[in-house]
Amino acid sequence: MGIKKPFVSEIAKDTYAINEFGLTAMYLIVGEEKALLLDTGCGVCDLKAVVSELTDKPVMVALTHGHLDHAGGIGAFDEVWLGEEDFEMARNCDFNALKGYVDNLGKQGTYDVYDCSPDDITGFEIPPVMHALKGGDVIDLGGRHLLVIHVPGHTPGGMCFLEDATRILFSGDACNTNLLGAGTSVTETYNALKYLDTFTGRYDQMWNGHVGYAGAPNCMSQPKSTLPDLLHICEMILDGTAQPMEFNFLNRKMCAVEYGVSRLSYNPENL
Ligand SMILES: [Zn+2]
Repeated sequence: MGIKKPFVSEIAKDTYAINEFGLTAMYLIVGEEKALLLDTGCGVCDLKAVVSELTDKPVMVALTHGHLDHAGGIGAFDEVWLGEEDFEMARNCDFNALKGYVDNLGKQGTYDVYDCSPDDITGFEIPPVMHALKGGDVIDLGGRHLLVIHVPGHTPGGMCFLEDATRILFSGDACNTNLLGAGTSVTETYNALKYLDTFTGRYDQMWNGHVGYAGAPNCMSQPKSTLPDLLHICEMILDGTAQPMEFNFLNRKMCAVEYGVSRLSYNPENL
């Protein structure tokens, strides 16, 4: 029998990574007055119960972006904050597609480690009230502050969250070593990553929206060269020197370019 509870790792004082069965990662940042929950996962685990074991403070829920593996669990909450451009995506969560995602990762390794199933997805009939997050917003938890950084690329409403005091960046899926840049053009992804790069001197750790992917036994901050390598990939694609690999993704022709530790997948018709 596999593990039935999500792994919780304290990655800094009062700061937790919650690994939802290798499917997605949520983060809980606990301040003096309230806590911030970043992302809600697929809705496969009882996230509210996990969070209530970690804090008794009021919890604000924010999403790094509106994809189903991060917004699938919003039905457990009354209110969520996210980039306005991703409202529709989160509201119209396709639970059949989400089941397919869970089963796909399940067969890639999750089922070997965890006791979970696509049938555990709770879903929702009525989505929670959505509030818009904007780049430049500061979330005040009482003694802890997180700056919201708008990074459109993976999705148009993608948000990263920077805490200067702990020098941690929570990057969601907007900046990782296997970036899916299909949500906007390569040029927009490049510009958004260049903007994110202006914050590079302010963080030592970068935690993305997936830890211990598909049952992998790790929970790690991303390599320092993730972002510079992604920028270099965008430059090679845009100046024509990249040698892309073609592949099919959801019946669409996609390209991927790798450099250093990073890989960017993109729509070759949307440079
Ligand atoms: Zn995503």
